[in-house]
Amino acid sequence: MSDYSKFKLTTRTLHEDATIYPTKGAVNPPVFHASTILFDTLEQIEDRQKAASLPGHSTYGIHGTTVHYALAQAITNLENGHDTIITASGLMAITLAIGAVLDSGDHLLIADSVYGPTRAFCDNVLRRQNIEVTYFPPRMGDEIETLIKPNTRAIYLESPGSYTFEIQDVPTIVQVAQAHKITTLLDNTWATPLFYQPLNQGVDISIHAATKYFSGHSDVMGGSITANEKLYPKIHYYAQLMGNHIGPDDCYLLLRGLRSLETRLKHHQRSGLEMAQWLSEQAEVKYVIHPAREDHPDYQLWKRDFKGASSLFGFVLHPVDKPALAALLDHMSLFGMGYSWGGYESLLVPGFMSSIRTAEPWQEQGIIMRIHIGLEDIEDLKHDLRAGFDRMNNAKA
Ligand SMILES: *Cc1c(COP(=O)(O)O)cnc(C)c1O
Repeated sequence: MSDYSKFKLTTRTLHEDATIYPTKGAVNPPVFHASTILFDTLEQIEDRQKAASLPGHSTYGIHGTTVHYALAQAITNLENGHDTIITASGLMAITLAIGAVLDSGDHLLIADSVYGPTRAFCDNVLRRQNIEVTYFPPRMGDEIETLIKPNTRAIYLESPGSYTFEIQDVPTIVQVAQAHKITTLLDNTWATPLFYQPLNQGVDISIHAATKYFSGHSDVMGGSITANEKLYPKIHYYAQLMGNHIGPDDCYLLLRGLRSLETRLKHHQRSGLEMAQWLSEQAEVKYVIHPAREDHPDYQLWKRDFKGASSLFGFVLHPVDKPALAALLDHMSLFGMGYSWGGYESLLVPGFMSSIRTAEPWQEQGIIMRIHIGLEDIEDLKHDLRAGFDRMNNAKA
C-alpha cells in the first residue's frame, strides 16, 4: 500500500480509498448489499467477535462494508480526526454524538444559534432524560465560563449559526472547556472541512450534515461524526448500541459527491460573495449577513479561523407585508423555495426567527432571508432576484 499521507487532501480524497480496499481494477470501491457477513472458520468468527467493537471489523451488515469504510476514511482525512461514523442523516449524527457524551443529570451548554431540529432534540429528548440544557449567546467567548456548573459535561457549537451566521470564538471556548474537562462538539456543515477544521483547534467532535455540500446534488441524506482518539471509541460504541446504519447506495453517492467537493466549493464561494455584494447594493435589502464580508461583525474571527466561505448566507429585507413577500417568492424561475442547501441549485427561504432564539430575543423587524447560491450562471441568478424584487415592489400595499 502506498503512503498517501504525503499528498494534499484533495488528491487523497480522490485516490486513497482505492488503495485501502481491493477494487479488482475498478476506479471506485464496490458497493456490497449485505446483511449477512460469512466467516470461513470458527477461528475467524471468534477473532472477529473479540474485535467487534473496533472500527472496520464487521460481523454483520449493520456495521457497514467497504463503501462505508472508504467514505469514513475520506472524511476522517479531511477533518484530521481519528475516525468517523457515518449516519443516515445529519440530525442522526447530531443526536448520536450528543447522546454518546451525556448521561442523566449532566448539563449541556449549547449555542442559541443552532440548527432548529438540534434545539428540538435538546428541548424534547434531553430534558426528558433529565439532562439540563442552557442556550448561550453565540458570540460569547471566555465569559462562557460563568455558565459552567459542576455537572456541565459538553459544549455544543455551530459556526456560523443557522440563519444568523454568527462566528463563534472556538479556540477561546475550547480553552475554557478543556480547563474544566468538558467535551466540545461542533456542527461544521457550513464550512465543510475544506474551509474549517475544528479538531485542529482542539474541538473533540466535528459533525456534518453530509446531505448538504458533501452530497452536493440534493438527492441523498447522510451525516458524519468525526472524533479525536479520546472520544471516538465512546461514540462508535454508542452508535452501534443505537443501531446506527446508512444504506450502501447512499454511502456511495456521498463518496461520489466528496470527489468534487473542492471544485464545487470554489464556485459556490465566488458566486456567493458576488451575490452578497450585489444584494447589498439593492434598495430592497436592508443588510447582508455573510461572514466573509468585512461588514460582518465577526469578520475578523472568520478570517482568523476559516480558509474560505461556502455559499449559504442571509440578508434582511426592509419590512414588507405578506402579499409583497409572496410576490417575490412565489414566482422565482431559478431559486427554489425549500429547506436543505449545499446542492447545485440555488434556494431562497424566509426565516421564522421568533421561536428559535431564547438566550437573546431576535429583535430585527425586517424579514430575514436565507439564500443558497448554487452552480448556475451568476448573472442569470441576479436577473431572477431583480425580477422578484420588482414584483415585490409592485405588490406593496
Ligand atoms: C441540514 C442541517 C442539519 C441536518 O442534516 P439532515 O441531513 O437534514 O438531517 C444539521 N446541521 C445543519 C447546520 C444543517 O443545516
